Amino acid sequence: MNVRPPPDAAQEWDAIVVGAGPAGAALARRLRPRHRVLLLDRAPARAAAAPRIGESLPGAARVLLQRLGIHDGFLAQGHAQRGAAVSQWEQDTPAWFDGVRDPHGPGWHLDRARFDAFLREAAVAAGAVLAGDVRQSTVAHDGGRWRVDVERPGPDGAAPSLHTHRAPILVDASGRSMSVARQLGLARHGQDRLVCLYAHLPADAGDQDQLTRICADTNGWWYSVRVPSGQRVLAFHLDSDDPDLKTLRDPARLLARAQRHALLAGIRPATTDFAVHAQPAGGGGLDPSAIAALPAGFFAVGDAMLAFDPVASQGMFNALATAESAARAIAATLGGSADARARYLDEMRAVQARYRRHLDATYAAVQHHAHEPFWRRRGADAAAPVLSPSTPA
Ligand SMILES: Cc1cc2nc3c(=O)[nH]c(=O)nc-3n(C[C@H](O)[C@H](O)[C@H](O)COP(=O)(O)OP(=O)(O)OC[C@H]3O[C@@H](n4cnc5c(N)ncnc54)[C@H](O)[C@@H]3O)c2cc1C
Repeated sequence: MNVRPPPDAAQEWDAIVVGAGPAGAALARRLRPRHRVLLLDRAPARAAAAPRIGESLPGAARVLLQRLGIHDGFLAQGHAQRGAAVSQWEQDTPAWFDGVRDPHGPGWHLDRARFDAFLREAAVAAGAVLAGDVRQSTVAHDGGRWRVDVERPGPDGAAPSLHTHRAPILVDASGRSMSVARQLGLARHGQDRLVCLYAHLPADAGDQDQLTRICADTNGWWYSVRVPSGQRVLAFHLDSDDPDLKTLRDPARLLARAQRHALLAGIRPATTDFAVHAQPAGGGGLDPSAIAALPAGFFAVGDAMLAFDPVASQGMFNALATAESAARAIAATLGGSADARARYLDEMRAVQARYRRHLDATYAAVQHHAHEPFWRRRGADAAAPVLSPSTPA
């Protein structure tokens, strides 16, 4: 029989942040040292860094890293400077974009696992308390405060331990799973069926290409870039109901399909002994009005607030930017302001509207495949139910 010990006495915080990804970690750092912050994550606090997709950070993030006080430490981590990009998107003729022309600078190709760990360490260094290995957390609002009951495994196979935490502020920073918002009855809106099939191809000393290569296909789109480890990311984005989702899980087939495009034909790893992963990648977000209807003190940041389609390459910038805006609103709320959350949500409405306009224009630009289902769903048929509220990724 699995006898659970009773929970220990509730611990009091100013803010409980669920999710220690880039958004949650950046927010926790910003709230310190003035506020007591608990940062919860389901991953072990000292987990080995797992390879992750999503490595392109725009130069505009520099100022956010500076305001977090971690810019110099970030530069010392050895991420690669972003080179130029070449795409076959609007038409078959390749178009070039040189990041040097970006007024914010070219940006970086990150070692993503290292970047995420760096942000978490920065939050802890600022005094946030990080509790990893969270198996389950239950949230409720009672007595005018948020309450989170957390279950974590006991040491060496002992029974799990239960802890109760309370705070006036509760933040969902759990990424696309938006697990706290879902517990509170909110749903994700505007998410489509996009799935990313991706592989980290083995490092190849002969491959020194620094270009980001982007390519529209009949039933989706590709990108490929070398990351600081020397490995090459190869990613194909398609719809979840496309039969290719199954067949292209085979490394040799994925590679062969990529090589049909002139821009990707030169990608020739020495072996096809690599894993192909699938990850939900559709954009979508929480409805700010639904958040406004929840009790005071609930916030969402990063992908939990608005997940960007990967074609935008803006997810991490958004994670850092929403952390900054939410930190300002949370500090004001803790200081007694009654309308700080409403102002934050207005800002999020504006971000969502701008993002939607850019996304529609980006997909509508692919005229040569416009009649194919993948592109029709994002162009002429975009108002059809495919982009209606759906279950979260
Ligand atoms: C295919 C693909 C490609 C992408 N490419 C790019 C790119 O090139 N550039 C870019 O900027 N962005 C890119 N992104 C998006 C980027 O990765 C995300 O926007 C970014 O990770 C968001 O950060 P976050 O902190 O909000 O969420 P996450 O990074 O998802 O972090 C969420 C954290 O919450 C934790 N968590 C989840 N549920 C719970 C729970 N119930 N309890 C406790 N902890 C929990 C997780 O363990 C995780 O640590 C891409 C995304 C995809 C899918």
